[in-house]
Amino acid sequence: MTTTTMPDTTFGTFFLPGPTEVRPEVLQAMTRPMIAHRGREFEAMFARIQEGLREVFGTARPVFVSSSSATGLMEAAVRGVPQGPILSVVNGAFSERFAQIVRQTDRELDVLDVEPGQVATPDEVAARLRARRYTAMTVVHSETSTGALHDVRAIRAVAAEAGVPCLVDSVTGVGGAELRFDDWSLDLALTGSQKALAMPPGLAFAVASEGYMANVTRASARGLYFDLAEFEEYVKKNQTPNTPATSLLYAAEVQLAHLRAETMPARWARHAAMAAQTHRWVDERAARFGIGILAPAGHRSPTVTAVTVPDGITGDDIVRAVKARGFTLGSGYGTVKTRTFRVGHMGDHTPDRLAACLDATEDALAELLGR
Ligand SMILES: *Cc1c(COP(=O)(O)O)cnc(C)c1O
Repeated sequence: MTTTTMPDTTFGTFFLPGPTEVRPEVLQAMTRPMIAHRGREFEAMFARIQEGLREVFGTARPVFVSSSSATGLMEAAVRGVPQGPILSVVNGAFSERFAQIVRQTDRELDVLDVEPGQVATPDEVAARLRARRYTAMTVVHSETSTGALHDVRAIRAVAAEAGVPCLVDSVTGVGGAELRFDDWSLDLALTGSQKALAMPPGLAFAVASEGYMANVTRASARGLYFDLAEFEEYVKKNQTPNTPATSLLYAAEVQLAHLRAETMPARWARHAAMAAQTHRWVDERAARFGIGILAPAGHRSPTVTAVTVPDGITGDDIVRAVKARGFTLGSGYGTVKTRTFRVGHMGDHTPDRLAACLDATEDALAELLGR
């Protein structure tokens, strides 16, 4: 039998905004034999994973580990809120999903509608929170469909003033965009394994404040699989409520050691540098190709950029032409699907490989547009 490792020649070519490229040794960790999830060996591994995840979130709180994709913990976050109306900031496809979860868990939903690509200001949020008594609000930190970044620290601050818990989807934030759970006094933040953390898909992580958890048992219809009270009970024992995806935890442990070696501030700086590199690349070719950046300056995600395309071609045309040159980009997503493509400059990518990807994209655009 041969072991498959990704040859160096293809590593650094996969710029999808999730899942992202995973280091070969992280993939390899998943081939280790099974262990009992109620045994000492598991608990010791889970404790090491906890330590790594706390550093990633900047928290001394326990980090819930769910064997689901991130959407599972988005639903858990909503289910853990006592009955009453919820305000969702919607500025793209993933924030719309959060709102959809509110609707489908039989909650009353109000939407703060923001044009795709734009963000809500803390003042706009504060005004809405003054107008009605909400039990929670939802917001997406880095809106992966548009590349817009919310100032979740400032938004949480106005929510706290109104006494409303702020649930933060930071799926393409955590591990790429600065987020400090404890310093920013966040109420709840969640992420998935397969985005900026560069782990295989299938795990989701969340931190909830003491204040949020104090009200969870007042929430009716929390269900079973996504009941955060259960997660809290088990995390104390370094276990999960149900059988976890043990192989994915092996991978997470190895990748968390890489994250720790890099340090979070260095990781945020590397992502900021790759975002700036991408923005510069677009700006310098805006006139020649008629391309642009969807999100406004000052509100752009460090992990993903949605690039607008000129009339006559679609985002998919570009993705296909770049694929033929050996690199993978993301198609447009949601309401901006046809008029954008997305560069996922997140995870373990380097400015060098990003430059190679952008070169291929330039070549593709020149061919498609004949200029
Ligand atoms: C990818 C993503 C999700 C959904 O994550 P799944 O792991 O597919 O459930 C939610 N929100 C944002 C911002 C995302 O980027």
